[in-house]
Amino acid sequence: MFLRVAEVVAERGTCLRATVGAVIVRGGRIISIGYNGAPPGQPHCEDVGCDVPLKSAGCVRAIHAETNAIIWAAREGISTDRAAMYCTHSPCVSCAVAVVVSGISGYYYLYDYRDPAGLKILYDSGVEYDKVDLNGTRYPTDAEDSESVSGSADHSGHTD
Ligand SMILES: [Zn+2]
Ligand SMILES: [Zn+2]
Repeated sequence: MFLRVAEVVAERGTCLRATVGAVIVRGGRIISIGYNGAPPGQPHCEDVGCDVPLKSAGCVRAIHAETNAIIWAAREGISTDRAAMYCTHSPCVSCAVAVVVSGISGYYYLYDYRDPAGLKILYDSGVEYDKVDLNGTRYPTDAEDSESVSGSADHSGHTD
């Protein structure tokens, strides 16, 4: 359900290169949302085009959905500690770092971002993550094992 919301949120994005939506959930409720777009006061990609430096595959004008959602929560004084993030995509490196530092302990997504390095950061930092489909069904990597929560379940002992 939250991933469906993330897809709807993504429709608000204004970056031409990516439509990404993220929602942060705590206690079963959405506490923040974010999408790809220009920071307040900056021109939107859909108006002036994306800003893609040489040697970079990504647009640097837009703030990413995940980081956008985390920063908005910070601005509003909403704790993200032990919250879960539901995002249309797996995170880039920068967003993965923001997820870890924000205390988010679970990350669930629909599509793989082109760079898997962000997932490695989640893994190394003990953030549970999983790729799921819109019906909430996990992809069958560990479907045989009903005890397994996710591919990173071994790291769930991180919290104390
Ligand atoms: Zn852009
Ligand atoms: Zn990102």
